[in-house]
Amino acid sequence: MADVVLKNIRKVYPGGVVAVKDINIEIKDQEFVVLVGPSGCGKTTTLRMVAGLEEISSGDLLIDGERMNDVPPKNRNIAMVFQNYALYPHLTVRENMAFGLKLRGVPKVEIERRVKEVAAILGLESYLDRQPSALSGGQRQRVALGRAIVRKPKVFLFDEPLSNLDAKLRVQTRAELSKLHQKLRATVLYVTHDQVEAMTMGTRIIVMKDGVVQQNASPIETYDHPANIFVAGFIGSPPMNFLEVEIKREGDELYLVGSGFSLRATQNQRQALERTGVSEVVLGIRPEHFHDKLMVPDAPDDQTVTAVVDVVEPMGHETYLYLTLGGQTVTARVDPHCRARVGQDMDLVVEMKQTHVFDKRTERAIT
Ligand code: ATP
Repeated sequence: MADVVLKNIRKVYPGGVVAVKDINIEIKDQEFVVLVGPSGCGKTTTLRMVAGLEEISSGDLLIDGERMNDVPPKNRNIAMVFQNYALYPHLTVRENMAFGLKLRGVPKVEIERRVKEVAAILGLESYLDRQPSALSGGQRQRVALGRAIVRKPKVFLFDEPLSNLDAKLRVQTRAELSKLHQKLRATVLYVTHDQVEAMTMGTRIIVMKDGVVQQNASPIETYDHPANIFVAGFIGSPPMNFLEVEIKREGDELYLVGSGFSLRATQNQRQALERTGVSEVVLGIRPEHFHDKLMVPDAPDDQTVTAVVDVVEPMGHETYLYLTLGGQTVTARVDPHCRARVGQDMDLVVEMKQTHVFDKRTERAIT
C-alpha cells in the first residue's frame, strides 16, 4: 500500500474557475481519509487530480514519494469507485470483476483465483454468474468495489460511492466498507458531501470549502473542536446553534449576553477572550448541550436560558426541540421523557464547558 501527498495543489479550470486553491494533504499508508464539504467545494476535482483524470495546474502529487503529476492514470496503481458504478450490463459479475485484469494480461488462473477471493470477501460468491440487471443496488455497488479490489491497487479513491443507495442500504454498506478497509489495510481517499459518512468512516476528516481546506483532523477532534464557524455548522446533525453575543464584564467575570439571555463564560473562555481581546463573538451550542432544567434543578441561573417551545419532535431514543430564544430559532436534543409543551416557556441549562466561542469577524474558534 502507499502514502499519498498533495503539496500546494491548485486547480484552475479553463475559463478561470479556481476549483482548488493551494491544498496540502498527507495521507499515510492504510489511512481512511474522508474529504467532505458542500457541493462545489472542490472535493471531486481533488480526487480526479489524484486519479490522473484531471490535470494539476500547480503543485506536486506524490505517491510513495514518487512524483505522479505526469504519470498516466493507468500507471498510478490507483482504483477509483464512482457514485455511478457503471458495470458492463452484458457481462456477468465474474466477467465484470475479471475485465480489468484481462486487459492487463493477467493469467487466467490468477484471475480466477483473485475473483474468487474478492467475491468471498464481499459476499458475492453466489452471484458470480448473474448479470448486473439481476442484482440489487447494493449488490451492484459491491461488484463495482470488487472490480477495484481485484486489481490490488496501492490506493483506493471513492467518489460518493453510496449516494445511489437507499437510506438503509447506505448505513449497511457504510459499515461494510469500514470492515473492508480493516481487512484490506488499504490507503483510502473517500469523497462525500455527507458529514455522517465522514464522521463514521474516516480515520481522518478533511473539511473543504471554496477549494480551501478548513480543518484536517480526526472525526472526534473535528466535532469537539471545530476550527471555525463553517466546520462547526457543517459537522453534526442537527447542526450547532449559533448565537451572537456581546461580552460584558461584571467584577472578575465575563458574561456572554445575547437577546434574552446572559451566560457566564467559563474560566477558559474568559482567559481566551482576555488574551485575544476579541469583543464581537458568536456563541456555538450543540443541540445536546442544552438540558431540561427540570433534570438539573441545581444548575445556576447564569447557565440557564428561557426559550419558547415551537416544535417537539420525538425520535424515540431522544427528542428534538425547536425553540425561540430571543427571536432566534435554536434546536435542543433532550431526553425522550422531557415534558416540553408547544407554546410554553422552557428553562434550558447550557453546558457552558461544551460551548464554542468564535470571533465574529474571522469566524475562527477562540476556545
Ligand atoms: P459536488 O459535490 O457537487 O460534486 P465538488 O465539491 O466535488 O462538488 P467540484 O466538482 O470539484 O466540486 O467542483 C469545484 C468547482 O469547480 C465548482 O465551482 C465547479 O463548478 C467547478 N468545475 C468543476 N468542473 C469544471 C470544469 N470542467 N470546468 C470548469 N469548472 C469546473
